[in-house]
Amino acid sequence: MAQIRIENVRKDFGAFNAVKSSTFTIEDGEFFMLLGPSGCGKTTTLRMMAGLELPTSGEIFIDGEEVGMKPASQRDIAFVFQMFALYPHLNVGKNISYPLISQGMPKAQATKKVHEIAEILGITDILKKPVGGLSGGDRQRVALGRAIVRDPKAFFMDEPLGALDAEFREHMSEELRALHDRMNATTVYVTHDQLEAMQMGDKIVVMNHGVVEQFGVPQDIYDWPATKFVAQFIGSPPMNFLEFRGMVGNGESKVRFGDVAFEIPRMLDGANGDLTFGVRPEHIKLDDAAPYRGEVAAVEYLGTTQIITMKTSNGTIKARVPSSDVVKVGERTGLHFDARTISMFNADTGQALKSEANEGVLTYG
Ligand code: ATP
Repeated sequence: MAQIRIENVRKDFGAFNAVKSSTFTIEDGEFFMLLGPSGCGKTTTLRMMAGLELPTSGEIFIDGEEVGMKPASQRDIAFVFQMFALYPHLNVGKNISYPLISQGMPKAQATKKVHEIAEILGITDILKKPVGGLSGGDRQRVALGRAIVRDPKAFFMDEPLGALDAEFREHMSEELRALHDRMNATTVYVTHDQLEAMQMGDKIVVMNHGVVEQFGVPQDIYDWPATKFVAQFIGSPPMNFLEFRGMVGNGESKVRFGDVAFEIPRMLDGANGDLTFGVRPEHIKLDDAAPYRGEVAAVEYLGTTQIITMKTSNGTIKARVPSSDVVKVGERTGLHFDARTISMFNADTGQALKSEANEGVLTYG
């Protein structure tokens, strides 16, 4: 079990700056997601925490001890990689006991431990089987068993489900999360899949171009993105942006673009210039009486809901509405935005403006 803290951690590869200046804390027992697009620096961050890469500057603490210069072998961390390399000449039980035997644990004690782990993973019946003929799921369980058996302080997983097909991936992600809940071991998990991060994580760090854009619990990140990048990276379809030039005063709870005024949460920041009004698709209602109007450009039926694409004078908007709403391509209708859910951004910096609704949630790296 471990608390992991990284403070102002930076990584350069020659002239290339892969991680800018990251600061966040992973609490003991958390299932923690490092999320972001390809190349954003997630794996490099994980490798620095594990001791496989030295930070260029900054500090890394495990349970309060600064470990930046400690090699991986002294950090007591288990890595689970995407490719589960098992020892092909050993059976399942021996694959799992290998780390214990190589540490010098007596065989009887190691066997007892392997049986405990096999019980947790539900693989007791295959302990004597060769690993060659195992299904993908069982191979993953064996690889996990081999990682868990040492009782490491923390588990690090780099896209462990990346190679699996969608259905199996969902099943394994549920299994991984259930396993974590039983063992309560600190787990740091790298993914580029926002849904996986939201479903599995207690907390999420969202990275982009080496920068921590936001960290927090999934719901706060979804509801109150700290930046326009987070608002678009998370959610499908992503948050809608209406760009306009105008102003919003500190203490105001209305914003005006064109000749329509919109209610928004009371602002704790004032801004004047290029602004972005952000609304999630499910916080829009079609309401013929609403003054802000648009034309229906497309209707995408999804069963319980449908995605309506609207053309408005400020750009395209996607609304997620009940599939019982009767909507036809080409018709004009009004759009009503749920005022309590609106995010406002400074369009130049991309950062969210503080309001009464997002106060305390906007945590940057
Ligand atoms: P992916 O999901 O594609 O692995 P990532 O977010 O995990 O993406 P990293 O692997 O951390 O990204 O890489 C961040 C950036 O640093 C990338 O541009 C990558 O090319 C670069 N990089 C990573 N390792 C090295 C290295 N050893 N030498 C030079 N550049 C590197």
